[in-house]
Parts: sequence; C-alpha cells; structure tokens
Amino acid sequence: MGFRKVLQERRIVLDVGHSENDKGAYSRFLGVSEFDYNNDVANIIVKKWDDKRATLLKNIRRDYMSLPDDLNVLDPYLIVSLHCNSFRDESANGTECLYFHKSSMGVKIANEFVSSFSKIGFRNRGPKPVKLGDRGHYQLRHTKATNVIVEPGFFSNEKDCAILEDKELIADTYIKTIKRLLDGKLWIWEKFWCRWM
Ligand SMILES: [Zn+2]
Repeated sequence: MGFRKVLQERRIVLDVGHSENDKGAYSRFLGVSEFDYNNDVANIIVKKWDDKRATLLKNIRRDYMSLPDDLNVLDPYLIVSLHCNSFRDESANGTECLYFHKSSMGVKIANEFVSSFSKIGFRNRGPKPVKLGDRGHYQLRHTKATNVIVEPGFFSNEKDCAILEDKELIADTYIKTIKRLLDGKLWIWEKFWCRWM
C-alpha cells in the first residue's frame, strides 16, 4: 500500500501552530501573534507552490487534543508545523527544529530546516529531539507521518524579528527546503523502514 501511494499523491501538510482561540506567543516587535503570522506564511507557501511532486495542504488546528488524529486523517507523508520561538530573556535568538526523538528521519529533516534558516541570517541552534514531557511531545508522538516543528526565530528577539518581518523570505525558505527534501527522497524511505511505532 505504501508503494502504491508513492505513485499516487504525495501530501505534505503545513500545520499552522496554535489556533484562532489560543494564538500562541505575541511579538511586540512584529505586533502579531504566532498563529496570525504563521497562517500568513502558510498561505504564501501554498499560493507559491508550483512543484508537481507534492500537494501542500494547510491545516488549522481545532484543538490540541484532536490535532494528531486530524493530521493523520489527511494521510500525509510529511507534516511541517509552523511556529516561532519566544523567551522572557529577549537576548535568546536563533532557529530550532523539533522532532520526535526516536525518528531517524525526523532528525534529518529537522537538520535541513535549521540549515536553511541559518542561511538567511538566523543562528543555528540545531535540531532538537523531543522526549516524553517535552514541549510538542504529544503531537510528535501521535502523528503517523514524520512531523517536525519548525521555529525559524524568536518572536521575543529584535534581530530575529527583523528577518521574520519578511514573510516572503520565510515562505521561500520553507519552499526551498521542502523541494530539497523531495529531491533527496528522504521522506519516502520513512514509510518503508524508518517508522518508530
Ligand atoms: Zn508555538
């Protein structure tokens, strides 16, 4: 079944972090919440996407508990969750990407995202494995496809926000990275032998 699906449709979900009711972090530098910001970025990505090798779908969260099931129903090959970081110490900065600690494909894909975002000026904080009790664990543990949580920069850091302000650039960086993943076929292998469950 996995093989037939490779020949049919490859779906990649852009999962907008947080929700209409709980918008996540707010940036005083950008004057926007994580949800509104990433919803815009996801819309730009979907609008610009021109690669026939995969279909991009945007997901808006109903609530956190139903999120993994809602994502699984879409039957994607890859889930890219769009977030931004935030910390009370405003000097904290840089790009991070979270993956489920047992996912060998997750770490590879997370590494592609942080290296892309570091090329447009963010400090590379590296891929971050998520274990039981860590932020994002529930979602990453219960989604069937490889899921990474991308945090290009800090909403609480002025220099990061100067880059984040250019949503086209952020969207283009997501697009470039996803295309590079398709070139490498990294994500197809996961279906056959890298599943952790
Ligand atoms: Zn978030």
